[in-house]
Amino acid sequence: MDAQTCIKKLQYVGVLNFATVDKHGKPQIRNISAIHYEQQSMYFFTARGKAFCEELLSDGNVQILGYTKYKEMIRLSAKVEKVSDNEQKKWIDIIFEEQPYLSNVYPDNTREIGIVFCIKNAEIEYFNLGVNPIFRESYIIGNADIVEKGYYISQDCISCGNCMKNCPQRCIISGKPYQIVQEHCLHCGNCLEKCPVGAVRRRGMPNETE
Ligand code: SF4
Ligand code: SF4
Repeated sequence: MDAQTCIKKLQYVGVLNFATVDKHGKPQIRNISAIHYEQQSMYFFTARGKAFCEELLSDGNVQILGYTKYKEMIRLSAKVEKVSDNEQKKWIDIIFEEQPYLSNVYPDNTREIGIVFCIKNAEIEYFNLGVNPIFRESYIIGNADIVEKGYYISQDCISCGNCMKNCPQRCIISGKPYQIVQEHCLHCGNCLEKCPVGAVRRRGMPNETE
């Protein structure tokens, strides 16, 4: 799997969920299919009057989620960029050409109320629940960072084996300390709850280097 294949899979899904946070701090989510896909970027259309547009212009953060029939979840965390004014018409026309239903929604010149945003920098999380063991991996396009999630086992481990016994994906291997195979981990937290000495820690926390 790689970033490019993830983008291709999102294109096959077709209708994606776009989540933002509104000015009251509340989550807002909507389906978007007015999207043009490139190998390492995506362009999407909305209307300038929509709250969605306002949220994108004020903050720019968006999460995009697609789910395939093979139980693959693909999530992009991105900061969108508004396409430059002199390129807006070009990208609107490309998206309308690829998505003919849009001409019914915005007939004739009414498409000019549209605005196109681009995603060139994103973290992509791929999570496949359709294989055994489950598989997850993260990729980036452009300049985004990967935010580490899940758990790791610290040097406080006394090698009792309790976490391994209780891991639903059998993705903990023995050793000193025991280790979590990250690409097969569900992030369920059972290992953390079952460890008698508190040796399992969340990733991305300040004490991770121990
Ligand atoms: S978080 Fe869940 S799946 Fe991951 S290692 Fe711990 S018990 Fe296993
Ligand atoms: S339960 Fe805790 S102490 Fe026991 S092997 Fe797992 S991490 Fe180490």
